[in-house]
Amino acid sequence: GALPGWHTVEHLVETAHETFAHVRDGEVADYIPALAEADPDLFGVCVVEVDGSVHSAGDVEHRFSVQSISKAFVFALACQEVGHERVLETIGVNNTGLSFSSVMAIELNGGHPMNPMVNVGAIATTALAPGADQDARWGFVRDGLSRFAGRELELDEGVLASETEGNQRNQSLALLLESYGRMPVDALEAVDTYTRQCSLLVDARDLAVMGATLAGGGVNPLTGARVVDAQIARDTLSVMATAGMYEHSGEWLFEVGAPAKSGVSGGIVTIAPGKGGLGTFSPPLDSAGNSVRGRRVAAYLADALGLDLFASA
Ligand code: GLN
Repeated sequence: GALPGWHTVEHLVETAHETFAHVRDGEVADYIPALAEADPDLFGVCVVEVDGSVHSAGDVEHRFSVQSISKAFVFALACQEVGHERVLETIGVNNTGLSFSSVMAIELNGGHPMNPMVNVGAIATTALAPGADQDARWGFVRDGLSRFAGRELELDEGVLASETEGNQRNQSLALLLESYGRMPVDALEAVDTYTRQCSLLVDARDLAVMGATLAGGGVNPLTGARVVDAQIARDTLSVMATAGMYEHSGEWLFEVGAPAKSGVSGGIVTIAPGKGGLGTFSPPLDSAGNSVRGRRVAAYLADALGLDLFASA
């Protein structure tokens, strides 16, 4: 089935925004200096249906760096390129149970990245991008993410510079993986391309469109273009369900019941297969790095709009 009627969805999106605007829990990420400046009151909620209907409330056009939400979509692009089997073997699809930049997760698993949603797995996934040189590989990533959004995404140079300057941990993770012989290209190049992809600017509406593209089997509902195959969209959603919200992925599935991906700038994309995508933006985060208001909105709308995969009615 589809979502409820147009007016009902419109009303529920507005109600969700109104209801959770007062929530004051969580902390804005500060380990990337450029992100610490975010206004904690910014709040946008957007649902895009697979038929292209758009429902917005609040700051849905405020742009922020996509951060880790890019991981899910670059995973889809890489899967499309190298296939399900190779990704399963080189990246993995199990939850680490540890934070997104954990060194222990790599060590405890024999030098394996575990999944594409934690930093080291995302860096290794970005490293699978085809192309003769870094420019071409970065072009593949940027163009692919832009096709998911249905518009050309721009880089936030300020965020890129800020994050590049403090990138020692991601570099360490990538070098550690390289030491195990599991980094497809030069580790530091892969980190640089990954950091660029994290610095692309999106808004809550873009996230909803990107989510709706996965919900619609890989076809962007606004442009009508096929971005990835339906089977790849399906693979991507399964990994998002397992690890998209890091060590809180189990709680998320219990409360929301739909695959999702968060980023430390405060965005979350949630997908209801066959129905649509939900994009939220609110910078204050919980201890795993997931937007607090975003989580509340997703739980509310999952119930009200019927986004929960596990609900029988
Ligand atoms: N670019 C950030 C990092 O590598 C992304 C983290 C995130 O959004 N969880 O740390």
